[in-house]
Amino acid sequence: MTDSNRVHIFDTTLRDAEQTPGASLTVKEKLEIAHQLARLNVDIIEAGFPLSSNEDFEAVRRIAHEVEGPMVCGLARALAKDIERAGEALKDAPNPRIHTFIGTSEIHMQGQMRKGREDVLKMAVRAVELAKSFCDSVEFSPMDAARTDPSFLHDVIEATIAAGATTINIPDTVGYAVPEQFGTLIADILDGVPNSKDAIISVHCHDDLGMAVVNTLSALKNGARQAECTLNGLGERAGNASLEEVVMALRTRRDYFGLDTEIDAHEIIATSRLVSRLMGIAVPPNKAIVGANAFAHSSGIHQDGVLKARNTFEIMEPKDVGLEDTEIVLTARSGRHALRHRIEELGFSLSAEELEDAYGRFLELADKKKEIFDEDLIEIVGGQQREETTHYTLEYLHTVSGTGTVPSSTVRIAIGDEVVQESAWGDGPVDATYAAIRKVTSADVLLEDFTIRAVTSGSQALGEVTVHLTEDGRSARGRGVSTDVVEASAEAYIAALNRLFELTERDAHPTV
Ligand code: MN
Repeated sequence: MTDSNRVHIFDTTLRDAEQTPGASLTVKEKLEIAHQLARLNVDIIEAGFPLSSNEDFEAVRRIAHEVEGPMVCGLARALAKDIERAGEALKDAPNPRIHTFIGTSEIHMQGQMRKGREDVLKMAVRAVELAKSFCDSVEFSPMDAARTDPSFLHDVIEATIAAGATTINIPDTVGYAVPEQFGTLIADILDGVPNSKDAIISVHCHDDLGMAVVNTLSALKNGARQAECTLNGLGERAGNASLEEVVMALRTRRDYFGLDTEIDAHEIIATSRLVSRLMGIAVPPNKAIVGANAFAHSSGIHQDGVLKARNTFEIMEPKDVGLEDTEIVLTARSGRHALRHRIEELGFSLSAEELEDAYGRFLELADKKKEIFDEDLIEIVGGQQREETTHYTLEYLHTVSGTGTVPSSTVRIAIGDEVVQESAWGDGPVDATYAAIRKVTSADVLLEDFTIRAVTSGSQALGEVTVHLTEDGRSARGRGVSTDVVEASAEAYIAALNRLFELTERDAHPTV
């Protein structure tokens, strides 16, 4: 069916990771990520679940038509209405795939669907046949495969391949598998299902026990040739197998796995940052491959070793994943030309007008902090490209704090044509600011999470604040970046309020 050593990378950041609470993306943001996934050179992009919402439908349709390179996939339950909706979203697309699924473990069949084996098998076959009427490439997933009776699993796989499925995905939906057992499950499918060679066997692992990546690698070692993963390991609950870890493990330990992907690893860092920025979920500093400390050596012995010969303590080089070895630093004296050059190297393309805008912001920031690093530029350009509802706009912020002072804050916020000003006090300047914003907006929101980190180094570093707010069961994240952390905190809070406002509006005016 395929080169025996070639692993297909199926990215589900836009589908599985997008289900992370508060991480929902607009269609425009999904397109931006999809274009970057194409630069990363993933084989398949799972762009969404078309029946689930009109936004998902539109995202799948536009990505399938506008993004060149990867195959584009839409998810559908094993139901006619789901598959037809996916087929409609992918109609006339150059390279489409429908991914359909049904639960096959006793727990799912009895507990959730109240159906017997025979019915489930029939539904799976009918779903694949229907999907096949829309496109050649059809993927079928027996959901909760890791907890499915292996003999029934083999029957379902054989029947769905016979019905035309070109990829069979074995999901460990609940993150229950352990590596050796999961690898054996894959080897047994390849040995025991007579027509298994007519399809590519894929895996989709979750990280509930911290084994998503290692289960994926074990499956690949045992003959699976498609890995479903997400950037930064984001996804339902504890997340999915992380794309960057699977890809770099295969690459770094090619001696052991003997497998290749077509991924352009130099795009890993840029993709990771874009996903983190648009989903509003910070990458933990100790995260493998893409964390801020992934290539930082702090022990004296290690530093000494790396300076003498990199491979003493480094199994990968930072530049392999797109981290610049020598950072180019721009200052207020750098002209438009230098700025444009660096911005383009970072993967952005700007119109003349956008460049002018970026240059203005660059000078403003260079005034405050003198040296401008790549991370700063990504903020300058990425921030201006961010699509945001601006129901609330922060116009003025003044805080008073200090030892022996009651921290207080005054904010002025534009709400449409109206401008409202309020003051409040709190435990600190951020708390006081949030209290003042709540007074202005009369928002009854809960602050679920507040994180602050320095984007760049030094005391004049840009501070990045991410907040997670909930209101009436809706959940939204907001992000703010500034050299002033109180201002960044206020911006993040307002951004999350704007998202909540957008979600409320969407629910109040459903489109057909
Ligand atoms: Mn999943």
